[in-house]
Amino acid sequence: MDQANDRLMNIPQVSPWLGQEEIEAVSRVIASGWITEGAVAAEFSARLNDFIGIPYGVFAPNGTLALYLGLAALNIGPGDEVLVPDITFIASANAVVLAGATPVFVEVNRDNYQLDATQCAHLVTARTRAIMPVHLYGMSANMAEIIAFAQRHNLLVIEDAAQAIGVRYRSQHAGTFGQAGCFSFFADKTITTGEGGYVVCHDRAIYERLLQLRNQGRADRGSFIHPTIGYNFRLTDMQAAIGLAQLNKIDVIIERKHNIMDWYRRKLRSVPQVHFLAIEPGSDYIPFRAILICENAHLIERGVQVRTFFCPLHRQPSFAYLDKERGGVLDLDDAHYPNAVFGYEHGISLPIFPALTEDQVCYIAATIRDFYVASAN
Ligand SMILES: *Cc1c(COP(=O)(O)O)cnc(C)c1O
Repeated sequence: MDQANDRLMNIPQVSPWLGQEEIEAVSRVIASGWITEGAVAAEFSARLNDFIGIPYGVFAPNGTLALYLGLAALNIGPGDEVLVPDITFIASANAVVLAGATPVFVEVNRDNYQLDATQCAHLVTARTRAIMPVHLYGMSANMAEIIAFAQRHNLLVIEDAAQAIGVRYRSQHAGTFGQAGCFSFFADKTITTGEGGYVVCHDRAIYERLLQLRNQGRADRGSFIHPTIGYNFRLTDMQAAIGLAQLNKIDVIIERKHNIMDWYRRKLRSVPQVHFLAIEPGSDYIPFRAILICENAHLIERGVQVRTFFCPLHRQPSFAYLDKERGGVLDLDDAHYPNAVFGYEHGISLPIFPALTEDQVCYIAATIRDFYVASAN
């Protein structure tokens, strides 16, 4: 068994996988003289639509604004409530606030911490317009249950697929089940453009609203007549060039993530205190992070950047104003979110970026094993 304590490694939580392809792609764009959103972005968009299997998609400057754009295109705004899982990156709920609506936090399940549609019915009111499933940590939420729930309650579905490019549920890509689906290309996502977001939809009318909202209220450039209010949500062709280079190697990125996850599983199999997430039936698993339920095992002291789960939204200081006691509409007591609290208090997030080596995974696993051996003595 490897000994962790004879050396000290420095292992970051995330590290984007960029190389010569991206450097050359950006250089070509700069040399071309056209650096704003143009032909390269159009090509990236066409390739994304093809990969995801959807007719329409538009870029946004980042995933947060992609979610905002999707919500706004669905006419969700002041007076509306949107169901959001209690465990997610806070941007899911912040986008709802940016659209002028109110996020309502829904408990997650204990198997894989995805939104639990069996626990939302009591939260639906006359103001509830939409549900925002988040495909968390590299797998899909239970979309069969969520779509059935949405249909039962006549809700729109806007999917936060920021962490889920490449993830399919029953052979259908995450983000394509509802009226709109949103992706992020931040540096820690499966493919990156540095900053970047993407909104997809099936419906031509929603697509046209997306186009207007992202382009100062008009469908095309070159005209100064603006039928509606809109903004500037463009990307640059430099970012799109990076995105194309990344999309070209997404299969390799996914394969590497699968291999790394296998190493984690094999090297931690002998530690009964360590539990992995249950993979949602019917879903792919392209781990966004290596998520374990176990103690943090002094990993930080050993040079490994470990994180907790995302902090449950009901506990966020920024959302305390939503509590009934403060005049809001929610009861934010921990008692309503036992699974989210359990995940937050017992879950850890380990690195799984494509360049992570087997030696590094060995070191992390040995550190965890040594911790449990030492605490048993
Ligand atoms: C990254 C992320 C976002 C936000 O994307 P940005 O590009 O960082 O704005 C939203 N939701 C989830 C679940 C994310 O992981």
